[in-house]
Amino acid sequence: MTIGGTPIWQGACHCRRTRFEVHAEIDHARICDCSICHQRGALIFRVTEDALKLLTPLDDLALYQWGTGTAKDYFCKTCGILPFRRPRAVTPEEQAAGKTDLNGWAINLRCIEDVAAAELPVRTIRGSSLSLP
Ligand SMILES: [Zn+2]
Repeated sequence: MTIGGTPIWQGACHCRRTRFEVHAEIDHARICDCSICHQRGALIFRVTEDALKLLTPLDDLALYQWGTGTAKDYFCKTCGILPFRRPRAVTPEEQAAGKTDLNGWAINLRCIEDVAAAELPVRTIRGSSLSLP
């Protein structure tokens, strides 16, 4: 299905308590080497705020915050899967270099139905060098 040519993807956690849609052209996967992405084996795709349609209230998910405390990792309270997260805010150094906050979501591509996440072109992100303790 598409809206104005943009594909609509159905997403869910493992137990399907958390459901969502992503409206985007998914053309690559981000692999980040920060501590939490590394442990999770995450394949991520970033989208703008309005590209994620929550079909489950955000309050139904558990929230984990660490490091700078600006990223928000959302987990299903039942099955423990992270379907999406809020990326951290840019650091003052990054801001000085012209980077701005994403104001969007990082989607766990492994939670999207009909996306062969492991077959997408990979972009490697050096999150480990960005995360503060
Ligand atoms: Zn679940």
